[in-house]
Amino acid sequence: MTKQIILAEEMGYCWGVRRALDIITKAGDVERPVATIGDVIHNPQIVERLKSQGIDTADSVSEAAEHGFQRVAITAHGAGPARSEDAKSRGLELIDTTCPLVTKVQRLGQKLVRQGYYLVVYGDGYHPEVRGIIAWSDTSRAVAAKHIEDLPWNAPRGQGEEGAIEPPRKVAVVSQTTKNVAEFLKFVGELAPMVARDGGELRICNTICEPTSLRQNALKKLARESDAILAIGGKKSSNTARLAEVGRSYGLPSYHIERAEDIDPAWLDGVDNIGVTAGASTPDDVIADVVRHLQTFGYAAPDTEMLDYDLNVLPNF
Ligand code: SF4
Repeated sequence: MTKQIILAEEMGYCWGVRRALDIITKAGDVERPVATIGDVIHNPQIVERLKSQGIDTADSVSEAAEHGFQRVAITAHGAGPARSEDAKSRGLELIDTTCPLVTKVQRLGQKLVRQGYYLVVYGDGYHPEVRGIIAWSDTSRAVAAKHIEDLPWNAPRGQGEEGAIEPPRKVAVVSQTTKNVAEFLKFVGELAPMVARDGGELRICNTICEPTSLRQNALKKLARESDAILAIGGKKSSNTARLAEVGRSYGLPSYHIERAEDIDPAWLDGVDNIGVTAGASTPDDVIADVVRHLQTFGYAAPDTEMLDYDLNVLPNF
């Protein structure tokens, strides 16, 4: 039997990251370097490559200004309004690479707050995207939560028990764009009985982006066809770690690797079909390297073309 490499149908850079990299690369200039606030992408190879093109990283606008940068950039995850105001007040040029699908969630959050909803952002409270959505909502009536226990309430509405902190009458939930659809549904399923009692209203907005959903479905398909899975991405890339985790949840040995050399040949013992996927910030050439490396272990080249996206085609949302 021929040993096969099976590529996930959706993997690697998402449309928003490709767009952000395209904007930032065009703006790159070694004479007038630009500092992205936070990593433009969680991939050490790309970070190095960008540095050589005059694109560096700073933790904040003030740090960039202190280091003499005259141009700063917002990453694809977006940021609250304070960042652009800060850049403006310091006379710095601002390059905004926020993914339009993130901007859409920021605007939706604002709208829901204006309509009187308490805003719950399902996601990681430390993540720049979630922090940006909350900052744009410009209210104290907004919270980030990944579990029901993270919410500021401890009882369903209308219980009236002593010590009970009940949700307000109107609650709306949006999601961080990269979250898992099944887990988001589980979260809102737990929230609904807390809010939708005693005249309460819960508005659920599934803002997980389409590229993320497509990737999750592609991984499911890949798991059905493979004996083991390699998830390629920077060690700091949580979405790559998550891909490997999901692979394991399907009962398959799954490994998070940063580059081809990380593959332990022992992992491939008895593996006829090796599935390959990659995180949203993994460059195509790193994926291609892994594929070439696997071929040296006797795997046939994958019959799928390496995926690519046309930056001029906006996804339909
Ligand atoms: S994961 Fe989705 S929202 Fe985030 S940058 Fe990519 S396309 Fe945009």
